[in-house]
Amino acid sequence: MTGPNVPEAVAESQTAETKTGADAPPLQLRGVDRIYERGGETVRALQDVDLTVRAGEFVAVVGPSGSGKSTMLNTLGLLDTPTSGDVFLDGDEVSDLDDEARTRLRKEYIGFIFQDFYLLPTLTALENVLLPTVYDADREATDRGRGLLQRVGLGDRITHRPTELSGGQKQRVAIARSLINSPEVLLADEPTGNLDTDTGRQVLGEFERVCEEGVAVVAVTHDELVTEYADRTVELVDGRLEDRR
Ligand code: ADP
Ligand code: MG
Repeated sequence: MTGPNVPEAVAESQTAETKTGADAPPLQLRGVDRIYERGGETVRALQDVDLTVRAGEFVAVVGPSGSGKSTMLNTLGLLDTPTSGDVFLDGDEVSDLDDEARTRLRKEYIGFIFQDFYLLPTLTALENVLLPTVYDADREATDRGRGLLQRVGLGDRITHRPTELSGGQKQRVAIARSLINSPEVLLADEPTGNLDTDTGRQVLGEFERVCEEGVAVVAVTHDELVTEYADRTVELVDGRLEDRR
């Protein structure tokens, strides 16, 4: 795992004070509200949400459709900005960063597994894994990509295209891709989606292994299977976060 890149990006943006410490959690939300206004309608997707995720911890966020799960994950992944409240990565407040700094953090600090696989159909499994490195792909990155595909059990599928892969295999390519830049934080939206139970367990086993290496993992889901693998489960109810157990 490379060192955190957050302070650098924050320093470059010159907007936030640096208070990074060895004890700073990799991920934290404090008092986060997200209000969407659309056509005169107001949706309070997140309300006063507090969440702290430690290094090596796997947190499952469960809740019914529309409870704010994707909004919360997108906020953690700097794809959405809170209406009010703070987002801390490695102790630095990042919700005010400019687009360029956010893009850098997304690339260097955060691995994201989207609800759909988002694999490019014309590319092979390996080429899809290498996508995040496309501006600086080299021999070393390619070796790392091959290693990651082997690690997720797809060593013999490296040159297959998505149409030649099952749903579980596609999700494992997406996991390998999320790890290509050695993130400190891994965020997953409905990672077991439409997968059957056995395939879902394989995917969740990968998350367990990633946690053991010290990565902070957050998965938002309606699938109770995920909670079996998580260190901690919290629940979103109408945009409010509650402890589950
Ligand atoms: P979940 O992932 O739990 O199904 P979401 O976070 O996608 O829930 O959505 C939470 C609420 O916010 C829903 O009522 C949804 O319609 C609304 N919402 C999400 N994104 C937007 C947006 N960009 N504009 C307006 N409303 C949105
Ligand atoms: Mg969702």
